[in-house]
Amino acid sequence: MRIIIIGAGVIGMFSAYELRRAGLQVTLIDRGPPGKHSSWAGGGILYPVLPWQFPRFMFPLITWSIDFYRSFCEDLASETGIDPEFVSSGALFLGHGQDAEALDFVRSEQIKAEHLDAQKLRFEEPNLSPQGSAALRLPEVAQIRNPRLIKAMMVWLRDHGVEIMSEAEVTGFDAPTPRHVQALHTTMGKLSADAFVLAAGAWSGDWVARHLHQPLAISPVRGQILLYHRAPGYLRHIVLSPRGYLIPRKDGSILCGSTQERVGFDSEPTDEAALKLADTAAFLLPELGNQRPEAHWAGLRPGSINGIPYIDRHPGFDNLYINSGHFRNGLLLAPASACLLADIILKRDSAPFSADPFRLYP
Ligand SMILES: Cc1cc2nc3c(=O)[nH]c(=O)nc-3n(C[C@H](O)[C@H](O)[C@H](O)COP(=O)(O)OP(=O)(O)OC[C@H]3O[C@@H](n4cnc5c(N)ncnc54)[C@H](O)[C@@H]3O)c2cc1C
Repeated sequence: MRIIIIGAGVIGMFSAYELRRAGLQVTLIDRGPPGKHSSWAGGGILYPVLPWQFPRFMFPLITWSIDFYRSFCEDLASETGIDPEFVSSGALFLGHGQDAEALDFVRSEQIKAEHLDAQKLRFEEPNLSPQGSAALRLPEVAQIRNPRLIKAMMVWLRDHGVEIMSEAEVTGFDAPTPRHVQALHTTMGKLSADAFVLAAGAWSGDWVARHLHQPLAISPVRGQILLYHRAPGYLRHIVLSPRGYLIPRKDGSILCGSTQERVGFDSEPTDEAALKLADTAAFLLPELGNQRPEAHWAGLRPGSINGIPYIDRHPGFDNLYINSGHFRNGLLLAPASACLLADIILKRDSAPFSADPFRLYP
């Protein structure tokens, strides 16, 4: 069976990985260089930013993805020589130390958690601003260095026979018989296959509206990040606060994110966001106030209703599938989403979670 996946972000790449492992002949096609949009721009926190406000039915996918990443990243690093830096750095949720909603969440989901008072917080993170006086620590929250994950995935996919086509935009399709897509129109010619997956991130809704003349509630939400550099270990935990978050990498890089802006398909970073993020960085780590950020970038998240992705066969076609709309959690959810997609395409039943909440038209 030959399958073509439209969009080589993390969702397309994990879909290709899962389907290739199941023995399919897979082509991954992107209109730009692969993995250079949201999947590159993201922060790489492998947990929702406010987990207690995230739908509970998502947690089996979250747990599954994190467990998957833990061993997958080791294998990927040894096979490709590129370490995606899966690190269980733990997360501090500032201002949520005694929050009833948060405590109810950790109790009911049986999540390891610890309340840190001001003194303990100071001990754990001496460089953090004293204004964040208490926190809830979830010690098992992990992160991934997404640009490296993408590089390693590309090597794995190529080495395992996935055809990767870059600079080829999908501009339409042929469906001469009802309910059956026969071929894609691309800027590099027509491509036939037995089945097709739309994983075009923030552009998926627009693609469906343009080519299928139907609404699909996926739209771009711009996010911006600043990058600083300190000595390794200067900050150890991921820090989440109502003003924004900090992500410390192994080499001392610190990411400060992020904005949420509905500005269409404009993915340019702005001075206004840079000022706002610099303010957040200085509020949380006062020494960053005296330092210029080393980089500033933006990406378009695939925004969806309540951040719930669509993972389903398109109701109008027997061989067109969608895996898109992961909003703020695409890096986190990519492995579980790809497993679910492969279950749907191959009519197998391997994922320990239901496909129902992710249907296009429940
Ligand atoms: C600032 C920011 C911070 C984030 N932080 C996190 C985080 O900490 N944790 C987390 O889990 N997630 C995070 N995210 C969200 C995460 O990055 C996304 O959910 C995820 O990357 C979406 O992946 P995707 O493959 O669907 O989209 P993308 O990575 O955008 O890939 C879509 C691809 O489709 C291609 N494409 C589009 N249209 C066509 C076409 N017609 N023909 C061919 N190709 C096409 C594009 O070129 C693109 O490469 C963050 C995002 C941003 C922007």
